[in-house]
Amino acid sequence: MIKNKFTITITDINGSRHFYLSQIIKKIALYIVVFVLLILVSSGFYIRYLDVKLAQISEKREGLLQKSKELELVNTQMQKSIEEKTQQYAAIEDKIASFEMALGLESENNLSIHTRLENLELTNEQQVQILSQIPNGWPIANKGVTGKFGWRDHPLLNRREFHPGIDLRAEIGTPVYAPADGVIEFSGYSDNGYGYNVILLHNFGFKSVYAHLMRKEVVKAGQFITKGELIGYSGNTGLSTGPHLHYEVRFINKALEPLYFLDLQRKNINKFFNQERRIPWQSLIKAISTQRQVQAQKQQ
Ligand SMILES: [Zn+2]
Repeated sequence: MIKNKFTITITDINGSRHFYLSQIIKKIALYIVVFVLLILVSSGFYIRYLDVKLAQISEKREGLLQKSKELELVNTQMQKSIEEKTQQYAAIEDKIASFEMALGLESENNLSIHTRLENLELTNEQQVQILSQIPNGWPIANKGVTGKFGWRDHPLLNRREFHPGIDLRAEIGTPVYAPADGVIEFSGYSDNGYGYNVILLHNFGFKSVYAHLMRKEVVKAGQFITKGELIGYSGNTGLSTGPHLHYEVRFINKALEPLYFLDLQRKNINKFFNQERRIPWQSLIKAISTQRQVQAQKQQ
Protein backbone atom coordinates (compact mmCIF):
# COMPACT_ATOMS: atom_id res chain seq x y z
CA MET A 1 0.00 0.00 0.00
CA ILE A 2 2.76 2.34 0.94
CA LYS A 3 4.53 1.36 -2.23
CA ASN A 4 2.52 3.44 -4.62
CA LYS A 5 2.09 6.34 -2.25
CA PHE A 6 4.44 9.22 -2.11
CA THR A 7 5.52 9.87 1.50
CA ILE A 8 6.96 13.03 2.96
CA THR A 9 8.71 12.66 6.29
CA ILE A 10 9.37 15.72 8.42
CA THR A 11 11.79 15.13 11.30
CA ASP A 12 12.33 17.60 14.12
CA ILE A 13 13.11 17.42 17.88
CA ASN A 14 9.71 15.92 18.55
CA GLY A 15 10.39 13.06 16.23
CA SER A 16 9.32 12.30 12.70
CA ARG A 17 5.95 12.76 11.10
CA HIS A 18 4.89 11.20 7.87
CA PHE A 19 2.63 12.85 5.41
CA TYR A 20 1.13 10.84 2.62
CA LEU A 21 0.65 12.67 -0.65
CA SER A 22 -3.05 11.85 -0.88
CA GLN A 23 -3.49 13.59 2.45
CA ILE A 24 -1.62 16.67 1.16
CA ILE A 25 -3.60 16.74 -2.07
CA LYS A 26 -6.82 16.62 -0.05
CA LYS A 27 -5.68 19.57 2.04
CA ILE A 28 -4.49 21.55 -0.98
CA ALA A 29 -7.78 20.83 -2.73
CA LEU A 30 -9.64 22.04 0.36
CA TYR A 31 -7.56 25.21 0.47
CA ILE A 32 -8.16 25.78 -3.23
CA VAL A 33 -11.90 25.31 -2.80
CA VAL A 34 -11.96 27.69 0.18
CA PHE A 35 -9.82 30.17 -1.75
CA VAL A 36 -12.02 29.98 -4.86
CA LEU A 37 -15.13 30.37 -2.72
CA LEU A 38 -13.62 33.42 -1.05
CA ILE A 39 -12.75 34.92 -4.44
CA LEU A 40 -16.26 34.21 -5.73
CA VAL A 41 -17.91 35.77 -2.70
CA SER A 42 -15.68 38.84 -2.72
CA SER A 43 -16.10 39.16 -6.50
CA GLY A 44 -19.85 39.01 -5.96
CA PHE A 45 -19.64 41.83 -3.47
CA TYR A 46 -17.34 43.82 -5.76
CA ILE A 47 -19.66 43.39 -8.73
CA ARG A 48 -22.59 44.48 -6.59
CA TYR A 49 -20.54 47.55 -5.53
CA LEU A 50 -19.69 48.34 -9.16
CA ASP A 51 -23.34 47.99 -10.10
CA VAL A 52 -24.38 50.51 -7.49
CA LYS A 53 -21.57 52.83 -8.60
CA LEU A 54 -22.63 52.49 -12.24
CA ALA A 55 -26.24 53.28 -11.36
CA GLN A 56 -25.06 56.39 -9.53
CA ILE A 57 -22.89 57.49 -12.45
CA SER A 58 -25.67 57.00 -15.00
CA GLU A 59 -28.01 58.89 -12.72
CA LYS A 60 -25.49 61.73 -12.58
CA ARG A 61 -25.11 61.60 -16.35
CA GLU A 62 -28.87 61.81 -16.77
CA GLY A 63 -28.92 64.85 -14.50
CA LEU A 64 -26.13 66.53 -16.44
CA LEU A 65 -27.89 65.82 -19.73
CA GLN A 66 -31.06 67.37 -18.35
CA LYS A 67 -29.11 70.40 -17.19
CA SER A 68 -27.45 70.71 -20.57
CA LYS A 69 -30.85 70.63 -22.25
CA GLU A 70 -32.10 73.33 -19.89
CA LEU A 71 -29.04 75.46 -20.61
CA GLU A 72 -29.60 75.00 -24.32
CA LEU A 73 -33.18 76.22 -23.90
CA VAL A 74 -32.02 79.24 -21.89
CA ASN A 75 -29.43 79.94 -24.54
CA THR A 76 -32.07 79.84 -27.29
CA GLN A 77 -34.33 82.14 -25.33
CA MET A 78 -31.47 84.55 -24.69
CA GLN A 79 -30.54 84.56 -28.34
CA LYS A 80 -34.15 85.37 -29.20
CA SER A 81 -34.19 88.14 -26.63
CA ILE A 82 -30.93 89.52 -28.03
CA GLU A 83 -32.46 89.54 -31.50
CA GLU A 84 -35.51 91.41 -30.21
CA LYS A 85 -33.37 93.89 -28.34
CA THR A 86 -31.24 94.44 -31.43
CA GLN A 87 -34.38 95.21 -33.41
CA GLN A 88 -35.63 97.59 -30.74
CA TYR A 89 -32.24 99.27 -30.68
CA ALA A 90 -32.33 99.71 -34.44
CA ALA A 91 -35.82 101.23 -34.20
CA ILE A 92 -34.60 103.65 -31.52
CA GLU A 93 -31.64 104.58 -33.70
CA ASP A 94 -34.00 105.27 -36.60
CA LYS A 95 -36.12 107.48 -34.37
CA ILE A 96 -33.08 109.39 -33.15
CA ALA A 97 -31.87 109.79 -36.73
CA SER A 98 -35.23 111.28 -37.72
CA PHE A 99 -35.07 113.74 -34.82
CA GLU A 100 -31.50 114.62 -35.74
CA MET A 101 -32.64 115.26 -39.29
CA ALA A 102 -35.49 117.48 -38.04
CA LEU A 103 -33.02 119.47 -35.98
CA GLY A 104 -30.50 119.64 -38.82
CA LEU A 105 -27.96 117.57 -36.87
CA GLU A 106 -25.80 115.11 -38.72
CA SER A 107 -26.49 111.51 -37.74
CA GLU A 108 -23.37 110.41 -35.91
CA ASN A 109 -23.65 106.66 -35.67
CA ASN A 110 -20.27 106.39 -34.01
CA LEU A 111 -21.56 108.29 -30.97
CA SER A 112 -23.33 106.37 -28.25
CA ILE A 113 -27.12 106.50 -28.20
CA HIS A 114 -26.87 108.28 -24.88
CA THR A 115 -24.72 111.10 -26.29
CA ARG A 116 -26.92 111.41 -29.34
CA LEU A 117 -29.99 111.72 -27.12
CA GLU A 118 -28.26 114.34 -25.02
CA ASN A 119 -27.42 116.35 -28.12
CA LEU A 120 -31.10 116.26 -29.09
CA GLU A 121 -32.39 117.23 -25.73
CA LEU A 122 -33.28 120.85 -25.28
CA THR A 123 -32.60 122.27 -21.88
CA ASN A 124 -35.57 123.50 -19.90
CA GLU A 125 -34.40 127.03 -20.57
CA GLN A 126 -34.24 126.44 -24.31
CA GLN A 127 -37.76 125.01 -24.24
CA VAL A 128 -39.10 127.96 -22.26
CA GLN A 129 -37.28 130.32 -24.61
CA ILE A 130 -38.73 128.67 -27.73
CA LEU A 131 -42.24 128.61 -26.27
CA SER A 132 -42.12 132.29 -25.41
CA GLN A 133 -40.74 133.40 -28.80
CA ILE A 134 -42.45 131.13 -31.32
CA PRO A 135 -46.27 131.10 -31.68
CA ASN A 136 -47.67 128.12 -29.81
CA GLY A 137 -51.10 127.11 -28.65
CA TRP A 138 -54.45 128.61 -29.60
CA PRO A 139 -54.82 132.41 -29.79
CA ILE A 140 -58.53 132.00 -28.96
CA ALA A 141 -60.54 129.42 -27.05
CA ASN A 142 -60.50 126.17 -29.04
CA LYS A 143 -63.93 125.79 -30.71
CA GLY A 144 -62.59 123.87 -33.70
CA VAL A 145 -61.33 124.50 -37.22
CA THR A 146 -63.63 125.58 -40.08
CA GLY A 147 -61.07 126.05 -42.85
CA LYS A 148 -57.75 124.30 -43.41
CA PHE A 149 -54.41 125.64 -44.56
CA GLY A 150 -53.43 124.98 -48.18
CA TRP A 151 -55.01 124.81 -51.63
CA ARG A 152 -58.83 124.97 -51.72
CA ASP A 153 -61.75 126.29 -53.70
CA HIS A 154 -62.35 129.81 -52.48
CA PRO A 155 -65.83 129.97 -50.94
CA LEU A 156 -66.56 133.48 -52.28
CA LEU A 157 -64.33 134.00 -55.33
CA ASN A 158 -65.23 130.58 -56.83
CA ARG A 159 -61.68 129.64 -57.90
CA ARG A 160 -58.75 127.55 -56.66
CA GLU A 161 -56.57 129.50 -54.32
CA PHE A 162 -54.01 128.99 -51.66
CA HIS A 163 -55.35 129.54 -48.16
CA PRO A 164 -52.30 130.80 -46.28
CA GLY A 165 -53.84 130.37 -42.84
CA ILE A 166 -56.31 128.38 -40.83
CA ASP A 167 -59.88 129.44 -40.00
CA LEU A 168 -60.81 129.01 -36.37
CA ARG A 169 -64.42 128.90 -35.26
CA ALA A 170 -65.15 131.99 -33.16
CA GLU A 171 -68.19 134.07 -32.29
CA ILE A 172 -67.92 137.80 -32.90
CA GLY A 173 -66.14 139.41 -29.97
CA THR A 174 -64.00 136.41 -28.98
CA PRO A 175 -60.82 137.77 -27.33
CA VAL A 176 -57.60 137.00 -29.22
CA TYR A 177 -54.42 136.51 -27.19
CA ALA A 178 -50.81 136.62 -28.39
CA PRO A 179 -49.42 133.09 -28.74
CA ALA A 180 -45.86 134.37 -28.17
CA ASP A 181 -43.92 137.52 -27.34
CA GLY A 182 -43.54 140.07 -30.13
CA VAL A 183 -44.11 143.56 -31.39
CA ILE A 184 -47.17 144.80 -33.32
CA GLU A 185 -46.17 145.34 -36.95
CA PHE A 186 -49.62 146.35 -38.11
CA SER A 187 -53.00 146.95 -36.55
CA GLY A 188 -55.82 148.34 -38.69
CA TYR A 189 -57.90 147.83 -41.80
CA SER A 190 -56.55 146.30 -45.02
CA ASP A 191 -58.50 146.11 -48.27
CA ASN A 192 -56.82 142.84 -49.32
CA GLY A 193 -59.80 140.97 -47.86
CA TYR A 194 -58.38 140.68 -44.34
CA GLY A 195 -60.55 143.52 -43.00
CA TYR A 196 -59.41 144.64 -39.60
CA ASN A 197 -56.29 142.66 -38.82
CA VAL A 198 -53.26 142.51 -36.60
CA ILE A 199 -49.79 141.40 -37.63
CA LEU A 200 -47.59 140.37 -34.70
CA LEU A 201 -43.85 140.24 -35.38
CA HIS A 202 -41.98 137.66 -33.29
CA ASN A 203 -38.30 136.95 -32.82
CA PHE A 204 -36.26 134.83 -35.22
CA GLY A 205 -38.26 135.76 -38.34
CA PHE A 206 -41.70 134.53 -37.24
CA LYS A 207 -44.92 136.45 -37.72
CA SER A 208 -48.50 135.71 -36.82
CA VAL A 209 -51.52 137.28 -38.53
CA TYR A 210 -55.09 137.70 -37.22
CA ALA A 211 -57.71 138.65 -39.81
CA HIS A 212 -61.43 139.55 -39.98
CA LEU A 213 -61.21 141.11 -36.50
CA MET A 214 -63.80 143.43 -34.96
CA ARG A 215 -63.36 147.09 -35.66
CA LYS A 216 -61.90 147.69 -32.24
CA GLU A 217 -58.26 148.65 -32.02
CA VAL A 218 -56.75 147.00 -28.95
CA VAL A 219 -53.08 147.34 -29.91
CA LYS A 220 -51.02 149.81 -31.94
CA ALA A 221 -48.12 149.28 -34.34
CA GLY A 222 -44.84 149.31 -32.43
CA GLN A 223 -46.37 148.07 -29.21
CA PHE A 224 -44.47 145.29 -27.46
CA ILE A 225 -46.55 142.30 -26.54
CA THR A 226 -45.91 139.38 -24.24
CA LYS A 227 -47.37 135.92 -24.68
CA GLY A 228 -50.96 135.77 -23.47
CA GLU A 229 -51.67 139.48 -23.90
CA LEU A 230 -54.98 140.56 -25.50
CA ILE A 231 -54.42 141.83 -29.07
CA GLY A 232 -57.96 142.09 -30.46
CA TYR A 233 -61.42 140.55 -30.84
CA SER A 234 -62.49 138.21 -33.60
CA GLY A 235 -65.19 139.49 -35.97
CA ASN A 236 -66.39 139.20 -39.55
CA THR A 237 -64.75 142.12 -41.37
CA GLY A 238 -63.21 141.96 -44.86
CA LEU A 239 -63.76 139.09 -47.27
CA SER A 240 -65.39 136.64 -44.86
CA THR A 241 -68.34 134.24 -45.13
CA GLY A 242 -69.09 134.36 -41.42
CA PRO A 243 -67.59 135.12 -38.04
CA HIS A 244 -64.27 133.34 -37.55
CA LEU A 245 -60.63 134.06 -36.89
CA HIS A 246 -58.25 133.68 -39.82
CA TYR A 247 -54.89 132.81 -38.26
CA GLU A 248 -51.55 132.69 -40.07
CA VAL A 249 -48.04 131.83 -39.01
CA ARG A 250 -45.24 132.98 -41.27
CA PHE A 251 -41.50 132.46 -41.30
CA ILE A 252 -39.69 135.15 -43.31
CA ASN A 253 -43.01 135.79 -45.09
CA LYS A 254 -43.48 132.11 -45.99
CA ALA A 255 -46.86 130.82 -44.81
CA LEU A 256 -46.53 127.75 -42.56
CA GLU A 257 -49.09 125.13 -41.46
CA PRO A 258 -50.66 126.89 -38.44
CA LEU A 259 -52.02 123.60 -37.08
CA TYR A 260 -48.53 122.54 -36.00
CA PHE A 261 -48.18 125.77 -34.04
CA LEU A 262 -51.66 125.44 -32.51
CA ASP A 263 -50.68 121.98 -31.29
CA LEU A 264 -47.22 123.02 -30.11
CA GLN A 265 -46.59 122.66 -26.41
CA ARG A 266 -43.68 121.77 -24.25
CA LYS A 267 -44.28 118.04 -24.17
CA ASN A 268 -44.39 117.66 -27.96
CA ILE A 269 -41.61 120.02 -28.97
CA ASN A 270 -39.67 117.20 -30.67
CA LYS A 271 -42.72 116.05 -32.62
CA PHE A 272 -43.22 119.66 -33.71
CA PHE A 273 -39.62 119.89 -34.99
CA ASN A 274 -40.30 116.75 -36.99
CA GLN A 275 -43.53 118.11 -38.48
CA GLU A 276 -42.31 121.55 -39.46
CA ARG A 277 -39.16 120.84 -41.42
CA ARG A 278 -38.94 124.07 -43.38
CA ILE A 279 -37.20 125.80 -40.51
CA PRO A 280 -33.56 125.06 -39.60
CA TRP A 281 -34.37 124.38 -35.96
CA GLN A 282 -30.83 123.44 -35.02
CA SER A 283 -29.48 126.84 -36.00
CA LEU A 284 -32.33 128.48 -34.05
CA ILE A 285 -31.49 126.42 -30.96
CA LYS A 286 -27.84 127.39 -31.36
CA ALA A 287 -28.85 131.06 -31.53
CA ILE A 288 -30.98 130.72 -28.39
CA SER A 289 -28.15 128.94 -26.56
CA THR A 290 -25.73 131.72 -27.50
CA GLN A 291 -28.17 134.33 -26.18
CA ARG A 292 -28.43 132.48 -22.89
CA GLN A 293 -24.65 132.21 -22.62
CA VAL A 294 -24.27 135.96 -23.12
CA GLN A 295 -26.86 136.56 -20.40
CA ALA A 296 -25.09 134.15 -18.06
CA GLN A 297 -21.80 135.93 -18.63
CA LYS A 298 -23.41 139.27 -17.85
CA GLN A 299 -24.74 137.93 -14.59
CA GLN A 300 -21.31 136.74 -13.50
ZN1 LIG B 1 -59.00 132.11 -43.72
